[in-house]
Amino acid sequence: MTSGADFFRQSSLPAPKLDEDWAARVAREHFGLDARAESLGSQQDTNFLLRAADGTVAAVLKVANPAFGALEIEAQDEAADLVARHCPDLRVATVLRGADGGRRSVVVEESSGPLVVRMIRFLDGGTLADSGHLSPAMVARLGELAARVSLALGGFEHPGLDRVLQWDLRYADRATGILLGHLPAARRRQVEAAVGGAWAAVQQVAADLPVQPVHLDITDDNLVRALSGPSREPDGLIDFSDLTATWAVSELAVTIASVLHHAGAEPCSVLPAVRAFHRLRPLSPAEAGALWPLTVLRTASLVLSGSQQIAIDQENAYASERVDGEWRMFDQAVSVPLEVMTGLVREAAGLSRTRRRMPARANPLVPGAADPLSLAWDADAMDEGAWSRPGIVAELAAARLAAGATGVVTTYAEARLAGSPRLSPTSPATVATGVEAWFAGPVEITAPWGGMLTASGDGLTLESADAVLRLSTGEVPSASPGADVEAGETLFSLPAGAGLRVVLQAAGAPDVPPLVRPEYAAGWLGLTADPSPLLGYPAAAGTVEGPDLLERREASFATVQGHYYDRPPRIERGWRHRLITTEGRVLLDMVNNVAIVGHSHPRLEAAASRQLRLLNTNSRFNYDAVVDFAERLTALVPDPLDTVFLVNSGSEAADLALRLAMVNTDRHDIVAMREAYHGWTYAADAVSTSVADNPNALTTRPDWVHTVEAPNSFRGRHRGADTVRYAAEAARFVDDLAASGRPPAAFIAEAYYGNAGGMPLPDGYLAEVYAAVRRHGGLVIADEIQVGYGRLGQWFWGFKQQGVVPDIVTVAKAVGNGHPVGAVITSRAVADRYRNAGYFFSSTGGSPVSSVVGSTVLDIVRDEGLQENARVVGTRLKARLLALAERHPIVGAVHGSGLYLGVELVRDPATLEPATEETYAICERMLQLGVVIQPTGDRNCVLKVKPPLCLDAESADFFADTLDRVLTEGW
Ligand code: PMP
Repeated sequence: MTSGADFFRQSSLPAPKLDEDWAARVAREHFGLDARAESLGSQQDTNFLLRAADGTVAAVLKVANPAFGALEIEAQDEAADLVARHCPDLRVATVLRGADGGRRSVVVEESSGPLVVRMIRFLDGGTLADSGHLSPAMVARLGELAARVSLALGGFEHPGLDRVLQWDLRYADRATGILLGHLPAARRRQVEAAVGGAWAAVQQVAADLPVQPVHLDITDDNLVRALSGPSREPDGLIDFSDLTATWAVSELAVTIASVLHHAGAEPCSVLPAVRAFHRLRPLSPAEAGALWPLTVLRTASLVLSGSQQIAIDQENAYASERVDGEWRMFDQAVSVPLEVMTGLVREAAGLSRTRRRMPARANPLVPGAADPLSLAWDADAMDEGAWSRPGIVAELAAARLAAGATGVVTTYAEARLAGSPRLSPTSPATVATGVEAWFAGPVEITAPWGGMLTASGDGLTLESADAVLRLSTGEVPSASPGADVEAGETLFSLPAGAGLRVVLQAAGAPDVPPLVRPEYAAGWLGLTADPSPLLGYPAAAGTVEGPDLLERREASFATVQGHYYDRPPRIERGWRHRLITTEGRVLLDMVNNVAIVGHSHPRLEAAASRQLRLLNTNSRFNYDAVVDFAERLTALVPDPLDTVFLVNSGSEAADLALRLAMVNTDRHDIVAMREAYHGWTYAADAVSTSVADNPNALTTRPDWVHTVEAPNSFRGRHRGADTVRYAAEAARFVDDLAASGRPPAAFIAEAYYGNAGGMPLPDGYLAEVYAAVRRHGGLVIADEIQVGYGRLGQWFWGFKQQGVVPDIVTVAKAVGNGHPVGAVITSRAVADRYRNAGYFFSSTGGSPVSSVVGSTVLDIVRDEGLQENARVVGTRLKARLLALAERHPIVGAVHGSGLYLGVELVRDPATLEPATEETYAICERMLQLGVVIQPTGDRNCVLKVKPPLCLDAESADFFADTLDRVLTEGW
């Protein structure tokens, strides 16, 4: 028998009922502290905040539940000290010490008996409990903290650890059994079944589970973090009252259970914590096997205890408030079979997947071999968005049979695109746990081994000792189920062209669905085997893998060339304004301004393919495509712009534009705008001043580059009516430069400020600055690389919005829809003067293929009304985003026009402090919910909204809804 508390002797522990006056009196009389006491919630103890007269918090006054003895409390205090010593970067709620060095702990005699009262260190901040969504990084931090505490407590010994708590999962079956009566009948049955299954699973490995002291409550409730500031990582740990010696892995089970009630959390959300824990404190195979069952038991204990606490102590508002969240944890914990989660935990811990024993010898299900059919990466079969058509799988199979195949079999374990056409905040079930087959002629399906045949849903199930074979045909075949069959016996006949689905899974495992979500695929596939050999086709090599691609990329790329996202999904396919991952997830693309007409446009693909079959060479040859394209471009711009240079990129266009100006004016000085990006080539880089693109931009400009202030009307020096001053100041700057003997060759700027987050320049800005530059004989360059080409909706070009005509226009990006095409458009006079002193040739600029691509993009923009679509859908989207700004103070402004919008995020609406870290975190969370969006601007606090111009209203709404959700739930 234990010397400490014993739940089985005293199963209800109502918190001591003491009021704030009592606490203030104890603080005064026993600790000599004059303070105001404020009651704090707690399940079994009673806690008060002690505030000094000036309002600062002096300590927490903790009154231990009288069921706990002095030794147990001493063990908790020592454990807290130990963790504080081992983890100096962690704030730990240790017992405060008096002048004599002793812990400030007293025994107060009350009529009900003695109470142990301690002064505990107060940790400033808040807990994670009400923090909404927990990001994967935050969940990993929880796992890391659990591991560090586990390591700190590893060798701790104390007689006060000898206690029997209801939270000790070694007693979960008995403890939950006692409390089940507090639940309504339906819930009781559900909890009982969950506890039964989980307990049985733990028992299989219990003998191998190491035991050690554990905090046993490292949860969102007991982890403290700063309330504001960019880093919101928890760095404080409180409440050692559940300290006990039990299975070491319980520490992690308790922690991950607490993740499950948070917004958007599901079982797979805990895996970052498992990985982080395992990295510091490796899980043994037995522990990996026990972790999820223990998590289920923990959630069951919580709902049972919460329900009991409410039953015995109806005034405990703290307990009542929590029960809803505890049910969410329980419901999530049981939403995926134990076996599946254990498979995932094993994978996270780097343990090999459980091998399933399948019948070694088998007759074929059907005679003859079938051809493999990949539903993911067959570009010919799956182009033109075919993957989004319902029934495409059968359609493709029928086409193969019509083309002469005797049979067709889909690929096991493949994440297929077919069947996942819609945008959705969760990943759809895409990974095949079996195969589907079609045959040209009628076939007899025969039993591969002997067993019991039963009818199930839309097919038959053949069960043997170690495997279950499920055959689905869409209708129950006219065989006579319910009988023992022999190997080789005919089960039913399949008519020509009919489909057959085959799933081969371990006996005794939960029913494996035909398609599962990629996050859980490793767990489900561990319960199945590849049935392809039964159909005469060799077993699949495996699924398309992601992570190792990133490693290969990093091995061969320069480190300066980054990538989006911490853990980017692998994307190999796009369709219109959607990007499709190799896991079959359809993402909304809000960032690819280059793909103006949408991804994989069939008309563009056909035009480029045709030209590739005809001719591709350089523009010194005489062919129609380049002339046609040049004429199309000049037709888009006002007089006197009538001459075109075709290049390959925006950088090249900017470089050439600057050279044109320098040669034309015989000068070298350039005036550029701050916060700008124009490219990476030598001259384009020289005039690029954005510190987001190049952190050293402002300190490394050559002396011939002179910069004027970004005319930012939202956060700049001049706002509101004062924004007109920017133009006058820039004009004066140009005048001064000229007066100093360095009149500029050119002024270069985006005509609508894309790089600053889609901000229009102040009205009249370009007119005034252009006039100043021209007054001194300089030229003016409009960079339309991001904002031009119809994206602004109301205007085809940014300079139209300003009512000016530049001397030189640079375009790229959208011009080729991703094919490298750029252009400099200028007047004949400017181009001719360059002829006298300059030189131009670009091997692939204006090639037949590039030219055809360029003209076809313009055809599509015109024929599909994409500029008008940008105006209509962009107006709708901007209105939705402005409505979000009303409700979410972090949205400081919504800039932009058409489908070039910027959602600027600020920490404080008054100071406009940029919410940079938040913006990155929001982008990560948006990705989880199916939206690709990235930050922009010098402060990286603007969500740049610049999708393909075919964006439809439904997708615009999906974006606004998803952003609303993230801003509401947290990131
Ligand atoms: N100008 C602007 C405004 C741009 O946004 C960019 C590309 N981000 C460039 C020029 C350079 O274009 P490219 O990447 O095609 O060289």
